[in-house]
Amino acid sequence: MGFQQGFFSLKGKTALVTGARTGIGQAISVGLAASGAHVLLLGHRDNLDETKAKIAEVDGTCETVLIDLSQTDSIREQIKPVLEDHQIDILVNNAGVIYREPAVAFSETEWNRVMDVNINAVFILSQEVGRGMVERGAGKIVNIASLLSFQGGVFVPAYTASKHAVAGLTKALANEWAAKGVQVNAIAPGYIETNNTEALRNDPDRSKSILDRIPAGRWGSPDDIAGAAVFLSSKAADYVNGHVLVVDGGWMGR
Ligand code: NAP
Repeated sequence: MGFQQGFFSLKGKTALVTGARTGIGQAISVGLAASGAHVLLLGHRDNLDETKAKIAEVDGTCETVLIDLSQTDSIREQIKPVLEDHQIDILVNNAGVIYREPAVAFSETEWNRVMDVNINAVFILSQEVGRGMVERGAGKIVNIASLLSFQGGVFVPAYTASKHAVAGLTKALANEWAAKGVQVNAIAPGYIETNNTEALRNDPDRSKSILDRIPAGRWGSPDDIAGAAVFLSSKAADYVNGHVLVVDGGWMGR
């Protein structure tokens, strides 16, 4: 069968996007909804109105799921009723937190919180949602990695360790589940204007040195990530497995 019209359409699919309130998660949610998916917006506070409004603007449909992903002991029981009510075809593990402190002083509490949200919750959700995908022989998981899945970063040891782990888990799950019809991939965003990078953008020296190194000559916007997420969630990506797709204005190629 050759390339068909609608390979990028997500009509009839249900997607679960974590960290859907802001930034990259919001843009991905709107992108998936605009492509036809019904989107379950996962946040940890009841504050997803802006994302809901943007989805309404593109005539999309969505609903809210409230789970605190830092409370890893309770994720399984909280996601269970969601899985009873919905067949999830697409899981986007986007929620992530960053904590900056020199390594010698780095707080163990923050280390554990970053690891819980950025990698432990990703594994738990992939396992719970992935189980149904494997049984049905179809599904897409898109993890949000980082340039710090490849590089060391400065003052962010937990974030870097967690994002290297996200890239590793992406490949490990892809190896197991590719033969079951489930594609597991990741997107590594470059430097994107969101809350996550506010501290960097407010530091004139760091901000300038980052911008000077980006071939595209600008910071990315969350919308720059949405198209890659739609692609990896669609039939067009049926033979893409365990890939970490860099969307970074050319940073890594430099
Ligand atoms: P962001 O605006 O801070 O988004 C993070 C999202 O995660 C928010 O919606 C946040 O909700 C949610 N979240 C945080 N803690 C949570 C928890 N315990 N339970 C459930 N949700 C939680 O930053 P962003 O840049 O869009 O980040 C999205 C992803 O992209 C992250 O994985 C980040 O590491 C990754 N990334 C970002 C960049 C960049 O340049 N911005 C680059 C590479 C990778 P609240 O706001 O309600 O707390």
